[in-house]
Amino acid sequence: MIDLAAIAENWRRLGAQAPDAECAAVVKADAYGCGLAAVAPVLFRAGCRTFFVAHLAEGVAARAILPDADIYVLNGFRPGSEPSYRDARLRPVLGSCEELTEWVEGAQGALPAALHVDTGMNRLGLSVAEALGLAADAVFGRAGIALVMSHLVSAECPDQPVNARQIAAFADIRAAFPGISGSLANSSGIYLGREARHDLLRPGYALFGGNPTPYAENNPMRPVVRLETPIVQVRAVESGETAGYDARWTAPAPRRLATLSIGYADGYPRSASNHGHALVEGVLCPIVGLISMDLIILDVTAVPDARRGMIATLIGDELDLDRVGRTAGTIGYEILTGLGSRYVREYAGA
Ligand SMILES: *Cc1c(COP(=O)(O)O)cnc(C)c1O
Repeated sequence: MIDLAAIAENWRRLGAQAPDAECAAVVKADAYGCGLAAVAPVLFRAGCRTFFVAHLAEGVAARAILPDADIYVLNGFRPGSEPSYRDARLRPVLGSCEELTEWVEGAQGALPAALHVDTGMNRLGLSVAEALGLAADAVFGRAGIALVMSHLVSAECPDQPVNARQIAAFADIRAAFPGISGSLANSSGIYLGREARHDLLRPGYALFGGNPTPYAENNPMRPVVRLETPIVQVRAVESGETAGYDARWTAPAPRRLATLSIGYADGYPRSASNHGHALVEGVLCPIVGLISMDLIILDVTAVPDARRGMIATLIGDELDLDRVGRTAGTIGYEILTGLGSRYVREYAGA
């Protein structure tokens, strides 16, 4: 179950943190697993006009859904792909001097583009020195740059000194490109203070209910995703019996086990074997044994009337995305984007 009204509300809440800035939406990876086709129009209706995707193909898909939005493609420009950018009116995020030159030659500055400057991630973007040099170069004037952006390394950890270094470096970049919009903040960056926000906010995770302020425990976002499944069957096991592949769990006493029709092939992480939980009738029930490709075994002894057909919640209520991610030794982002194609996505609150 995906709460579209909550996504719109989260977008408004994030935007309200910086009333003078524009709030974009990052909808790569099929809107973080929530379904681009359902999510994008809701964000557009809420007032969002700028969208970011990772891949060109995602941009083409987004254009079909969003005829009137500005759509940026984050993951680097490849020579020869100008026609696709032109046809779908997409904006490349240029991440190196090479890409910039190719774009200028190929597209003749006919379409706006963004310039990505790397202030510490060492992943995509011109170095700060390259960008400062470029500002004085004639080629820059022909590139049609509408946005300069950078990406934060540790925005979810405000105490990390790298935040201040990146904020300062990006301020230098802004000064070198006067009159061009700037964008630095992802979800957590929005909560790093005024100097991190600039003109365009780029939240992704928080739109979908992830906590942008994990240090504060209190999530300022509304939850979006509920993952529920009916119990397939319930059985009783004796003390000493095992459950699942490789017998990685042994009943310490007589127990009642429920089987759920979800497994790692659905994106529920196998690393949550013997660690994760599901809620049945509001009771936290431990996952026991190894998670299979298509099945999970739950200890429902604490729910005496647990039976076939009763709903188990794997994500939702106290099992929020961040907690599910932590329990599986990963992050909520991976849980979200892993949500598999076998699930039925039911949308509420459109
Ligand atoms: C994914 C991404 C974002 C969104 O980050 P969240 O932490 O999900 O808010 C913003 N900017 C860039 C460059 C990204 O790759």
